[in-house]
Amino acid sequence: MTIRLLVFDFGGTKLATARIDVRRGRADLAALHQAATPDNATASRDLSWRMATEVYRDTIDAVGVSFGGPVDGAGATVQVSHHVGGWDNYPLRQEVADRYGVPCALLNDANAGALGEQRWGAGRGMSNLLYVTVGTGVGAGLVLRGQVHTGARGLAGELGHLVVADDGPTCSCGRRGCVEAFASGPAIARAARHGLDHGRQASLLRTAAGGNTAAVDARMVAEAARGGDELALSLLARAGRALGRGLAAAVVLYDPQAIVLGGSIVKSGPPLLDPARAALRERALGPPPEILMAKLGDAAPLYGAAAAAVDLITDGST
Ligand SMILES: [Zn+2]
Repeated sequence: MTIRLLVFDFGGTKLATARIDVRRGRADLAALHQAATPDNATASRDLSWRMATEVYRDTIDAVGVSFGGPVDGAGATVQVSHHVGGWDNYPLRQEVADRYGVPCALLNDANAGALGEQRWGAGRGMSNLLYVTVGTGVGAGLVLRGQVHTGARGLAGELGHLVVADDGPTCSCGRRGCVEAFASGPAIARAARHGLDHGRQASLLRTAAGGNTAAVDARMVAEAARGGDELALSLLARAGRALGRGLAAAVVLYDPQAIVLGGSIVKSGPPLLDPARAALRERALGPPPEILMAKLGDAAPLYGAAAAAVDLITDGST
């Protein structure tokens, strides 16, 4: 039997919709449509529904929706988007279920990414998994016994906002010293600009930015680190240590079989990952779980939305 799914990803910068057919444990993604996210919720929904008409004209069994922002613990309501206005307390699951006349699963994008990687990506075959994506922010999701662990208020597994240094840099959440305040792309870039503006004269990083320190971004830091630049290496090591401390806290609490890392910053490689592994080893109880690289890339939330939708209709619940 083939389960036919329509899946949506409402991201902060990009909207995506596709068809995923699930058959004998395989998931095939087809007819992927993407567009830049409009600046308000109504336009985002209208554009997504329009794209969906190009994706599926056939019968569908269920819909899976990944949302780039907090979703309530019941998976019914979008709480807010930090990128797009007008999503506050929006009952997205009901709207989608009414629109398509089939059950709908709704989950946060980091949780969706975690479930996607667990079901059809790097964590295939594992029932307990920690997934962390490091990019513009630090998102994370926990899969326990094959299900996403969302917590009572939908806030479980927010590893990006785990405080790892009391006097660390200010985070996007307003507190200080969160993992995200050290390890996200903007955090690394900000620390690099600070380093260049305060004394580091000869630097590959300064050259890469054409002498304009304001233009430095995390990609340039990763490149400069590959060239052996001291400042870049020290910044990635600092980011890696913070990430490793966060991973260690999650490992002590949940003892996952593996950690799956995704996102653009993780591509910085050993200058980031070696210090992360070292910090994890120092703090974990016993040998830490293996760190695996994510396999599904940007499509992970779509696959995770599909997995949640499959669970919904094969469990017989709505
Ligand atoms: Zn924070």
